[in-house]
Amino acid sequence: MVVKTVRGTSDILPCNVDTWQALELVSRNLLEAYDYKEIRTPVFEQAGLFQKSVGESTDIVSKEMYVFSDKKGRELALRPEGTASIVRSFIEHNMHTQTLPVKLYYIGPFFRYERPQAGRTRQFHQVGAEAIGVEDVRLDAEIIDIAVQIPSKMGIKNLKVMLNSIGCKECRPKYIKQLLGHLKNKIKNLCADCNRRYSTNPLRILDCKKPECIQNVKDGPTITENLCAKCRNKLETVERYIKYLDIDYQIQPYLVRGLDYYTGVIFEITHSQLGAQNVVAAGGRYDNLIEQMGGRPTPAVGFAAGIERMIMLLAHRNFQSNNSVCLAYLDFSMDERVFKFLAELRQNGIHTKTTYQEKTLKNQLKTAAKSNCKFSLILGANELLKGTVILRNMKTSTQEEIMMDNAVTIIKKKFPLGGFRGM
Ligand code: ATP
Ligand code: MG
Repeated sequence: MVVKTVRGTSDILPCNVDTWQALELVSRNLLEAYDYKEIRTPVFEQAGLFQKSVGESTDIVSKEMYVFSDKKGRELALRPEGTASIVRSFIEHNMHTQTLPVKLYYIGPFFRYERPQAGRTRQFHQVGAEAIGVEDVRLDAEIIDIAVQIPSKMGIKNLKVMLNSIGCKECRPKYIKQLLGHLKNKIKNLCADCNRRYSTNPLRILDCKKPECIQNVKDGPTITENLCAKCRNKLETVERYIKYLDIDYQIQPYLVRGLDYYTGVIFEITHSQLGAQNVVAAGGRYDNLIEQMGGRPTPAVGFAAGIERMIMLLAHRNFQSNNSVCLAYLDFSMDERVFKFLAELRQNGIHTKTTYQEKTLKNQLKTAAKSNCKFSLILGANELLKGTVILRNMKTSTQEEIMMDNAVTIIKKKFPLGGFRGM
């Protein structure tokens, strides 16, 4: 039998990879402009890391995590999200001694055992960032700004920012009491998951998508109305700062997040074209997590964006670079001189296509046009003798004879700066 990809995983094929690379480049450039440095943590960790941080009662840990034992019986997990590993690394490498905030970003694969559907796979990719060590609402606003900027810079429009606060150690427990009181006589109307959440994780009932749960939560108290003065003030300040950046947002009183570590301001960025899985990016503040994981008390804020979901929104766009040339040669097979010229072009960063089979000039130029080459370099026996090469503009079909020695300089001048693969 032919071996295929595992359910919920897929190949990112060369025909789609230009969009991925463009998105990664845009993300890196943007995050570095905001003074974030990349961190690369392992794709597997001790399972306990996620149980302790994301939370035992969350869907991610209780249902979706890939957990396995290695040959020595260690319980390991494929990482389902990025923040836990970064917090582990922050503590392990004493990053609190660095200038604060420590600003970190990541791009990579994550794994969740979920039912595969549009916008939901078992291996997926995220780009995310964390600002650790300073409690300042401007960092919340900055994180939201970056999470909006990445898809926007790629040309994705009509993003919506949903904002809320889930309060602090003071106001959240008081609110949860009120919520439980409101739902007390309605438990039997809630879905099975929410019946469980009622005793394990009541806040999560607020963002259950089942109509019966929405119905019963709708006329109850909201956390937004029950924030303490401090939390209210922080939420309003974040609003003020993102308004200043012209970010379109709306307060969503039932917004909570599916991970236990969040505190204070949280957000989701959605796009209506995505259907049921409409969240492109999400994040918020987690001021207690580092202490909870064994570090000293350290405030932090971060976000993660789903790369596949952004790619879905970019399906109609072409990010292919056309900064390439084609070396066509004729009347001889590729000899050492042609081979060396070809290597020189490539060593100088010029994306050069060629053939390794003997083909007619017509055939080679046809391939060059089909693969979107801007120029062809045509080498015949005569040109080789003179040390020249014919430079043909594939769009206008105009040709000029240039010295082989000058080819690199001339071609580099003809390509616009800033092409995705331009060196
Ligand atoms: P959702 O409610 O959409 O399942 P989540 O709350 O589980 O999202 P987060 O843990 O906040 O997701 O992850 C951040 C982002 O990563 C999501 O907004 C989404 O874009 C993406 N993401 C999460 N899970 C998957 C998945 N299984 N497949 C593809 N993308 C995903
Ligand atoms: Mg999920």
